[in-house]
Amino acid sequence: MRAALFTSPGNLDVVDVETPQATADELKIRVESCATCGTDAKIFHHGHPRLDPPQIIGHEIAGEIIDVGANTTGFAPGDRVQVIAAVPCEECWACKAGKQGICINQTSMGYQFAGGFAEEMVIPAAVLKANGVNKIPGDLSFDEASVTEPLACVLNAQRLVHVGEGDTVLVMGAGPIGCLHVRLARALGAKHVMLADINGDRLALSANAVRPDRAIDMSSEDLAAIVLEETHGVGPSVIITAAPAGAAQEQAIAMAAPGGRVSFFGGLPKDKPMIAVDSNVVHYRELILAGANGSSPAQNAEALALIASGKVPVADLITHRMSLENVKGAIDAVTSGDAIKVVIKPQGVSA
Ligand SMILES: [Zn+2]
Ligand SMILES: [Zn+2]
Repeated sequence: MRAALFTSPGNLDVVDVETPQATADELKIRVESCATCGTDAKIFHHGHPRLDPPQIIGHEIAGEIIDVGANTTGFAPGDRVQVIAAVPCEECWACKAGKQGICINQTSMGYQFAGGFAEEMVIPAAVLKANGVNKIPGDLSFDEASVTEPLACVLNAQRLVHVGEGDTVLVMGAGPIGCLHVRLARALGAKHVMLADINGDRLALSANAVRPDRAIDMSSEDLAAIVLEETHGVGPSVIITAAPAGAAQEQAIAMAAPGGRVSFFGGLPKDKPMIAVDSNVVHYRELILAGANGSSPAQNAEALALIASGKVPVADLITHRMSLENVKGAIDAVTSGDAIKVVIKPQGVSA
């Protein structure tokens, strides 16, 4: 079969590989949609410490079951399914406490396990053990279902900073994740949602889709002043940084309302992980800072339900569909900001 094989930083080629077979404890799917995200770009350019090449990457996966192992239960050929990306061990203290996102033995699809940029993919036993396979409800498309995993990560982050009724939310970073943050914040009851980016074109594309109450072009507008005005001099009750920029994290802390919650959703580059923070701002304003790392299988199931119910629509965020052969073009489109969400179609792009 054809698959996008990552061999070393800068080398991701679509090649013929041996078609995988499911063991008795596994399932196999025909991959219908595998969405592309910033992490794929990171892996392509820099590799990843937990990824041992050569490996088939791609972790935002939806497809149809074509083979079921003899020891598996609950699934049959023809089932349409969405698969988790981060695979918790279900044995460690974090998993037992229901915090699978910070599982200390976490493995991932497209890292330790072959991923979804391929015509077919085996769903490993570890995914089944973690309840990581969700049936796609009703007539929800594979493309929409493939956006479940990033939405689950967004849901995890917003739960950690308790986004809810009446919040004023600033999302910094207008990529696909920023769009999902805007939509989810609304679904969770936020009353005023702002979206900011340093790339005016990316901001325009995303704001046109998700319609924040205020879009702020940081390249030409004074973010701090506008945010203060929009929140009647108080500051946002929640700020989410969805960009790999330390400056955004520093600004977020400086702008948050007293009692505000700040989510560092986007990680920083490995070689630039330090930021400068006025600790007294955190202290006197009683700010709460939260990280965010992946999502749990339960959050995946919840995210899929949010998409299927229409509470968090994603169809209009999928701006491009590309063939597997064009996977590098898809990664470029995501990186440049010309696309919101790009879905790879390993079975081909139908007209
Ligand atoms: Zn992703
Ligand atoms: Zn664990």
